[in-house]
Amino acid sequence: MTAHPSRVLVLNSGSSSVKYQLLDMADSSRLAVGLVERIGEETSRLVHTPLQGDGAGKREKNAPIADHAAALKAVAEELSADGLGLDSPELAAIGHRVVHGGLRFTAPTVVTDEVLAEIERLVPVAPLHNPANITGIRTAQALRPDLPQVAVFDTAFHTTMPEHAARYAIDVETADAHRIRRYGFHGTSHAYVSRATAALLGKAPEDVNVIVLHLGNGASASAVRGGRCVDTSMGLTPLEGLVMGTRSGDIDPAVTFHLQRVAGMSTDEIDVLLNKKSGLVGLCGDNDMREIRRRIDEGDERARLAFDVYVHRLRKYIGAYYAVLGRVDAVAFTAGVGENAAPVREAAIAGLEELGLAVDSGLNAVRSDEPRLISPEYARVAVAVVPTDEELEIANQTFALVAAGPGEDAVGGLA
Ligand code: ADP
Repeated sequence: MTAHPSRVLVLNSGSSSVKYQLLDMADSSRLAVGLVERIGEETSRLVHTPLQGDGAGKREKNAPIADHAAALKAVAEELSADGLGLDSPELAAIGHRVVHGGLRFTAPTVVTDEVLAEIERLVPVAPLHNPANITGIRTAQALRPDLPQVAVFDTAFHTTMPEHAARYAIDVETADAHRIRRYGFHGTSHAYVSRATAALLGKAPEDVNVIVLHLGNGASASAVRGGRCVDTSMGLTPLEGLVMGTRSGDIDPAVTFHLQRVAGMSTDEIDVLLNKKSGLVGLCGDNDMREIRRRIDEGDERARLAFDVYVHRLRKYIGAYYAVLGRVDAVAFTAGVGENAAPVREAAIAGLEELGLAVDSGLNAVRSDEPRLISPEYARVAVAVVPTDEELEIANQTFALVAAGPGEDAVGGLA
């Protein structure tokens, strides 16, 4: 029974939350999913959903959970109650989402002390994310020291970007001394969706050029040529690029000097303004596209403005990546807004027939969890809705690595 353990626990550790999924890679099925939120507060909450057998049904616990170690212990107890305990010999590995892998980690990597030290060295470029990811890994190591822990990096898919796309046009010595360059994020999603889009077209990833639009609360676009990322909209941090739920996306950097010199704001205040109080929320007070559409239907001008700014930026990136790729086979919409907000998809593509792009309003209105085409048959470029599945992608990459055996940690050469 222990000859071929096939379960993978996927952990996505945030500063005050842990999301998890237990998958069986024998058939890619999900055994349980859940999250712990508000870790460290009085109002912590664990929501656990077993997905197989008679135990199916959501369980919720509201009780203080002091830290990540306590959170993972609580998760382990829930899984045990379903007969899916983390002490099971069926568990092959734990896969961790790690946000920033810098230039060095170009592929999923088995965690060693040295790898952990490198992830720690990247904290200055990912101060919000990497510390939480490190805590998650350490906690899981303590729970199952015998098990491979695999780090799957948000930045890895983008390490194929050519230097001319990754470089900012600033002094090279200063940039290199501080590792300032465009790294890109959401890579696990861009990788998964670009491959799934090729599959939807019945082609190999090497044979298609895709523009992927990952529109969640955070949002990013990528240009993928033959399965390799050649440009993406997020940069040193996930602040650059598209208009997002609470982030500004592209902005003249001089705005920050102006806010310091003229408005007297501190660096931290500007950080909060651009990351938490901008984007859709800054423009109209709401960051949920459903609410924004409802307000537009009631004639709300601010909501209309927010929608228009959001869509305008999106169209600019579609145009830019069309030019970067030269030939585009598909534009794929994914994540919360991309998968659900038909008006965003319609407005982003409207009037681009000259580029071979069009949306069929009937197909666009269909709701489904399956990858699907929404372009009319005559259109030269496919427009698709392709639901993302970052957890499955992390589990796949983790399992592929441990199945390949030790010494296969696929670490790139650049420090
Ligand atoms: P995250 O970046 O947090 O993973 P998601 O990919 O889950 O985000 O996307 C969340 C966003 O998706 C919400 O803020 C909302 O704007 C949008 N969204 C979700 N469902 C719908 C829907 N039915 N219609 C329009 N927008 C939706």
